Amino acid sequence: MKAMILEKVMPVEKGPLRMIDVPHPIPGPKEILVRVSVCGICHTELDTIEGRIEPKLPIILGHEIVGRVESLGPGAARFQVGNRIGIGWIHSACGKCRFCREGRENLCPEFEGTGCHANGGYAEYTLVSEDFAFPIPERFSDPEAAPLLCAGAIGYRDLKLSGIEKGQNLGLFGFGASAHIAIQVARYWGCSVFVFTRSETHRDLARSLGASWTGGPEEEPPGKLHAAIDFTPVGETVPKALSVLEKGGRLVMAVIRKRNPVPPLDYARHLWDEKEIKSVANITREDLREFLPLAAEIPIVPEIEEFELNEANKALLLLKEGKIQGAGVLRMPE
Ligand SMILES: [Zn+2]
Ligand SMILES: [Zn+2]
Repeated sequence: MKAMILEKVMPVEKGPLRMIDVPHPIPGPKEILVRVSVCGICHTELDTIEGRIEPKLPIILGHEIVGRVESLGPGAARFQVGNRIGIGWIHSACGKCRFCREGRENLCPEFEGTGCHANGGYAEYTLVSEDFAFPIPERFSDPEAAPLLCAGAIGYRDLKLSGIEKGQNLGLFGFGASAHIAIQVARYWGCSVFVFTRSETHRDLARSLGASWTGGPEEEPPGKLHAAIDFTPVGETVPKALSVLEKGGRLVMAVIRKRNPVPPLDYARHLWDEKEIKSVANITREDLREFLPLAAEIPIVPEIEEFELNEANKALLLLKEGKIQGAGVLRMPE
């Protein structure tokens, strides 16, 4: 099968992925062999390629996978050949530790990320344990479903952790794949959404999706934020977001790694009045089980930009430069 493989860590500008031919993977006990249709691209891939998180090398990236069951390993019975399924960032967790038992498998010390610790979806076929595969609601096409599996589900987890309630003001910093889905959920929940981004095209998209205000990161919003989600890869956003938070408000940091340090915080201005900061790590299966049907009910309409698998390097560079409108998706060869 064809796959785009990462062999060593390097800047995205250098074209880090190489197309290779590898044997089809063979499903083990309770595993599924999936014929991949599309795979979304995500900021986590940039962090993996550039070494901010440590992948197991060589690796096939990609964790927003939509495909069809091609064959079943011994004992696998949850799905049938031909079923459409999705695979997200959570590839496995131990199921036994304190975190797993408390429903916080995203924090499991043995957590494995798809396309980081196990091969992912930048390939014609991939493997997944049947317990970590998800049915895709019929309403969505394959490319529409891809970004729901990480950008969407993580955005949903961010919203849950932010504690935002109906009628409150929510701030979104950065407006890429995850934010453009989160805003649709927040609007469905009856929140007013203020979007902070430098990009004019991203502001236009935000307004078309129901933002009540858009502006640059230095601008003052028309009201204090009850909660904010920071999707940006830069550190400067943190003090900015905290300074426009309402008393008792919470800032949720959605990225795995910041590219540059968070500047020093001023206690009185940024943290006092019971303001909170919380990061989001990984995702649980419950997030995906809740979010996929909710996305179909709203319904979420992801904005998609499609690329061929062999254009992965180009697509990732556009993602790094913030030039993808909505979510980028790679299509596998027919
Ligand atoms: Zn992701
Ligand atoms: Zn565990």
